[in-house]
Amino acid sequence: METYDVVVIGAGPGGYVAAIRAAQNGLNVACIEKNPELGGTCLNVGCIPSKSLLQSSELYAHMRDHGADHGINADLKIDFSQMMGRKERVVSTFNQGIKGLFRKNKVTTIAGHAQFIDPHTLQVGDQHVSARHIIIATGSEPTPLPFLPFDEQKIISSTGALALSAVPESLIVVGAGVIGVELGSVYARLGAKVHFIEFMDRICPTLDTQISKEFQKILEKQGLTFDLSTKVTAGEVTDSGVELTVEKEGSAGSLTANIALIAVGRRPFVDGLALDKAQITLNAQKQIPVNPSFQTAQPHIFAIGDVIDGPMLAHKASDEGVAVADLIAGKTPHINYAAIPNVVYTYPEVASVGLTEQEAKEMGLPIKTGLFSLKANSRAGCMGETDGLVKLIAHEATHHLLGMHIIAPHAGELIHEGVMALQTRSTVHTMATASHAHPTLAEAIKEAAHAIFEKPIHI
Ligand code: FAD
Ligand code: NAD
Repeated sequence: METYDVVVIGAGPGGYVAAIRAAQNGLNVACIEKNPELGGTCLNVGCIPSKSLLQSSELYAHMRDHGADHGINADLKIDFSQMMGRKERVVSTFNQGIKGLFRKNKVTTIAGHAQFIDPHTLQVGDQHVSARHIIIATGSEPTPLPFLPFDEQKIISSTGALALSAVPESLIVVGAGVIGVELGSVYARLGAKVHFIEFMDRICPTLDTQISKEFQKILEKQGLTFDLSTKVTAGEVTDSGVELTVEKEGSAGSLTANIALIAVGRRPFVDGLALDKAQITLNAQKQIPVNPSFQTAQPHIFAIGDVIDGPMLAHKASDEGVAVADLIAGKTPHINYAAIPNVVYTYPEVASVGLTEQEAKEMGLPIKTGLFSLKANSRAGCMGETDGLVKLIAHEATHHLLGMHIIAPHAGELIHEGVMALQTRSTVHTMATASHAHPTLAEAIKEAAHAIFEKPIHI
């Protein structure tokens, strides 16, 4: 039987990063992965293929909608199979990249599905593997509607949406969360009629309310349509597509489309792991419970990423991967969960970090907010992309930054100024007085900081 210092189950952004870091820390490491490719949900059916299609469809929609304004007239045609092929090549390049990193760091890859035999031993096919430390990083899977299972043809999850053979004429997206608006945007840009059914009274409900409302208006201008406060109560597959029964404010109706994308959240994945053999039980949310050192009920078995509590984000999983490998090596890592950024990769992007205005008020904090519209930002004007804003939330007495929310092109890059400000406990005065290059979108952050206690210059 092979014995390792550390065995990691799952090679997603939590698991593969943990494996590499543990090896860098001088430990003898194996990583078990059931999928033929390394990289997990993020690389194979998540972040990377979705961002690849968002990039391609954005390029197309930009040229179509704004080319003439820039003096560029082109006869555009979509080659969807080329677009999908490019996405696959992007994914495959990074699949090879992780293989190379495992080789370089001497991480042993074990192909197959891991299950516990006892708290120190795993079975993979007919092989037994034992370890002093085990890290569970088995991730998550799409949650289906209980009455409408995925067939990945007409009732699709995000995985099916990343593998369509043609652009549908019409698409209903159930759930206007981050997967819904990202993949809905892809197909709307490529010509599909995209309609959302959202249970809550606003889209992306975890966003700051003002940002969520502004974001919805921008998406509506792009042709996406929304039924909010609406519930799907039944559905069936028809010859031409799907028919969903919906309920809004007590009255029932029906909606039809070629395809329904169900994007109502993801749930932790522990199928076939035989956790009972390791004497580990799940919590009420079906997550693996861990202490602040990522230890499960068994101190030598750790869990990280989507399978434990917290935001289901690749960078959160990777941060935990580094932290757990460092903990095992006797170091004292720290993750600042209050400064984990969130990005929605639509156009424009929506990014946030820290508290929303609602959260700060619920916590009873005295706050001041500062807003700056992209309409008054010169770079946004040059780009012809003035839909958007920066919103900062600061503590009224100490002037520390509490939250940053941005709707802007490249908001996913800009947000890291807020991440660093929270990480270093900066005040909004520091942000307002720090020099920001001109003309940049980042100047809108400086102006929003001025707007809190002084006045912005350009409004
Ligand atoms: P996973 O990436 O799910 O990896 C778990 C791995 O474990 C899988 O490879 C699985 O095959 C393997 N496994 C499971 N059980 C076993 C077993 N018993 N034996 C062996 N192997 C096993 N997050 C972002 O931060 N940014 C984004 O832009 C983003 N976009 C997304 C887009 C989509 C469409 C989706 C679906 C998700 C997106 N996410 C994004 C979320 C992100 O993908 C997850 O948060 C992240 O992948 C979680 O990492 P993980 O390592 O915990 O699990
Ligand atoms: P989500 O939680 O972001 O959104 C689900 C949406 O569905 C919510 O708005 C919710 O109110 C709605 N909903 C739930 N049940 C419903 C029902 N029965 N009918 C109608 N609406 C319903 O989940 P998601 O979009 O599926 O994404 C899953 C996870 O993947 C998220 O936690 C996210 O963190 C991660 N992800 C991140 C990114 C990114 O970082 N850019 C991209 C994609 C996915």
